[in-house]
Amino acid sequence: TQERSARAARLESLGQLAGGVAHDFNNLLAIIMNYADFVAEEVTGEAADDLARIRDAADRARSLTSQLLLFAKREPTQVEVVDLNEVILGAEELLSRTIGENISLKCRPRSGGLTPVRANRGRLDQILLNLVINARDAMPDGGVVVASTDISEIPDLPGRWARLTVSDTGTGMTPEVRDRLFEPFFTTKPVDQGTGLGLATVYGIVGDAGGHISVESELGIGTTFRILLPLASPATCADTSATDQPVRVGN
Ligand code: ADP
Repeated sequence: TQERSARAARLESLGQLAGGVAHDFNNLLAIIMNYADFVAEEVTGEAADDLARIRDAADRARSLTSQLLLFAKREPTQVEVVDLNEVILGAEELLSRTIGENISLKCRPRSGGLTPVRANRGRLDQILLNLVINARDAMPDGGVVVASTDISEIPDLPGRWARLTVSDTGTGMTPEVRDRLFEPFFTTKPVDQGTGLGLATVYGIVGDAGGHISVESELGIGTTFRILLPLASPATCADTSATDQPVRVGN
């Protein structure tokens, strides 16, 4: 719809702006850190401690700008046919360790075959990581997060789709939060925990791959994210050398 593409255009220009600012900041931070290192060789005592704090803050700022750059990055990445089942199974161990002991992660790949999509593998990992970390943050008292894949046909969307679903038994969110969650810099988390870039990045990656994302959430019950990506031909799944552009089917 028109409203949808206006929204996509707004997110896109915000992304470009953020990317430009992040780039300049990154350069300035590198200078700050360099000089802090020079001075560190010459000072001792309390001044050295203060300097270490300056360096720490610059370091944190740099990791933030790196995230921004990643979000704003729009150059084509290497696209290959990837099996979504393998993406969730491959990340299972790392994700389980990341989310802690009071949350259980269940990976349920589609039974009965591959779930191939054309995308960049690293970006698919990034999508999954962002969704699972958000699920963890929504379950401070523990819970269950399920990552599953299947193949489906969607009314009003021609073709066949590979679907990645991540659902949690967390706090859920209000309609106001749900309306804004794909906006860059929108976060409800404390400043040192949230950047508001996770879902904006996911949104961009899914759009670039010609896909769709939707969210369903109920306060006190939990949240489900569904990502649709155009189903690829399984025959090419083993071929990891393809490097052409992702298909765009509009935003
Ligand atoms: P961040 O995680 O840095 O806040 P995101 O863009 O990933 O940035 O998320 C934006 C906001 O969306 C979060 O601050 C949170 O309020 C909400 N959100 C995202 N995922 C969930 C979830 N699974 N359950 C509840 N709220 C969520």
